[in-house]
Amino acid sequence: MKIGAIEAGGTKFVCGIGNEKGEILERVSFPTETPEITLAKVVEFFQDKGVERLGIGSFGPIDINKNSKTYGYITKTPKLAWTDCDVVGYLKKYFEIPIYFDTDVNGAALGEATWGAAKGLENCLYLTIGTGIGGGALVSGKLVHGMLHPEMGHILVKRHSEDKYEGKCPFHKDCLEGMAAGPAIEERWGKKAYELPVEHKAWDMEAYYIAQGVVNFILTLSPEKVILGGGVMKQEQLFPKIRKNVVELLKGYIQTENILKNIDEYIVYPKLGDNAGLLGAMALTLVD
Ligand code: ADP
Ligand code: ZN
Repeated sequence: MKIGAIEAGGTKFVCGIGNEKGEILERVSFPTETPEITLAKVVEFFQDKGVERLGIGSFGPIDINKNSKTYGYITKTPKLAWTDCDVVGYLKKYFEIPIYFDTDVNGAALGEATWGAAKGLENCLYLTIGTGIGGGALVSGKLVHGMLHPEMGHILVKRHSEDKYEGKCPFHKDCLEGMAAGPAIEERWGKKAYELPVEHKAWDMEAYYIAQGVVNFILTLSPEKVILGGGVMKQEQLFPKIRKNVVELLKGYIQTENILKNIDEYIVYPKLGDNAGLLGAMALTLVD
């Protein structure tokens, strides 16, 4: 089966064609402009390609409640041109095929559970630490949606004892995203994140915040694998620091082998690499 996939990001859109084996046969990428321009390019790419299903992993917030009047919309986003944009409705006019719509991070969680780091597992967490922080979760084989969809980046965290930075979230200031997303690191230290040396204390502070998020999600969602992606996680030195902080913060309360013995295989980098977004969107089309 030929499957169409769209990774709808705030800075770029990636469209691709693949199959249920997780192979990508063709892909294109273009910057995110206004919906009129960008969605027209999407339609142009998929026209006459003969895809049988279309999966979309989108930046948010989005409406994924099928009973809602605004199902398939990007809703109140800071990217103003996209506020209340009916993405699914627009594409439906051109393609009479099933269209699947979810958050980019839910897609990534499902893609990793289908073909990647959490292959074969029914419970996993995917967190991205990039321009923002977002999370997707597979629980008992189903993606968590609920009232809206999880907004894991905005959980509240304890401040690091040496951190005087006020926080960057426009809503909460010092929530997890406000303290630990890429732009917060850069504003706190006055440097691009990739310019900070590996031994800089920024990374200890960063690991402390990310670990708090991971601990809270371990305690609430009970994932069998925790996958940490996004630009900031390219700093490999973060992984051992995060694992250590997670164990310390849990204080022996969770006594599973994953935590006590195999934490190096429990908290890991994504396996799907540059195709993670597209494969995630493709995976969305394979569950009903
Ligand atoms: P997005 O979140 O927009 O999809 P990314 O996941 O690539 O994109 O995140 C971009 C952010 O990640 C930037 O704000 C930057 O601070 C940070 N970043 C990107 N590359 C690196 C790197 N090599 N090391 C540390 N931080 C990085
Ligand atoms: Zn916030």
